Amino acid sequence: MSVLVVGSIALDTVKTPVEEHADLLGGSASYAALAASFFGPVRLVGIVGTDFPATEFEFWKSRKIDAQGVQRVDGKTFRWSGEYSWDLNTRETRSVALNVFENFQPALPESYRRTDFALLANIAPSLQSHVLDQMEKPRFVVADTMDLWIETTRADLDALLPRADLLILNDSEAREMTKETSLIKAGRKIREMGPRYVAIKKGEHGALLFGEDEFFSCGAYPLEDIHDPTGAGDTFAGGLGGYLAANVKGEVTFAELRRAVIYGSVLASFCVEAFSLERLRSLTKDEILQRYEVFRSMSQFEMSA
Ligand code: AMP
Repeated sequence: MSVLVVGSIALDTVKTPVEEHADLLGGSASYAALAASFFGPVRLVGIVGTDFPATEFEFWKSRKIDAQGVQRVDGKTFRWSGEYSWDLNTRETRSVALNVFENFQPALPESYRRTDFALLANIAPSLQSHVLDQMEKPRFVVADTMDLWIETTRADLDALLPRADLLILNDSEAREMTKETSLIKAGRKIREMGPRYVAIKKGEHGALLFGEDEFFSCGAYPLEDIHDPTGAGDTFAGGLGGYLAANVKGEVTFAELRRAVIYGSVLASFCVEAFSLERLRSLTKDEILQRYEVFRSMSQFEMSA
């Protein structure tokens, strides 16, 4: 089963305390689509300019990522630049150039409209809604967001929330959105705003998943070396959405969502091992399954005698 992925496709400049790289392939949709493609076919929606490397279209083709929904137009590709602090946990945006994104109106090819699973990776919530408007009742909609939209387009975000089955956001965004310091209260409050499920990412501390009467908490895969945290959140969403689309035939149950959160965490843990999409490009399905198994054994414990 395919998953439709919409989001940004970008050229990034990333500075960590030890390295800086310019013009890296990035964007929420680039990470999410590649992560999802390990599980099944992807239908990608986005926009790029004439400076975007044509080789990427070949790469997508080789990974069963359908790029019919990616518009290539005159102008420059969206550019973003960020700098990480020494602990790689906090990041400052140094610059954003919307470029071709400024007039982006996602238009779904006819063949995309009946996709069962939609992953609305991070872009303006009005664009996420515009994509949903063109779809014929997807079975499950995952939406990602960021602090920028909570601060600048809250009404658009509020309108999207009841249309999402699962909202993904990080801990500081959940606190900002609800004005709650407790993430447990925040998760519950966000559910009341519309989505049936909420996943709160806590970076190197794992993730929380909220359902109506259900709750799940998991750690993050412990890594010794992190090179570039960019895209970890998008990769988490892509792994999660790709797993669901490929594996859930009937209703999406909480048990499946728990597995999907672990797959998302596994994919994100690989993403940060190298700059840009490089680690995801060389990753194999076997490596994913092995790390999932390590994750499982690491999280298990017995009742005391
Ligand atoms: P993450 O590290 O998961 O938060 O995602 C980083 C990616 O988000 C980078 O590759 C950026 O190109 C992309 N990005 C940054 N700002 C925005 C924005 N305002 N809209 C869409 N994508 C963005």
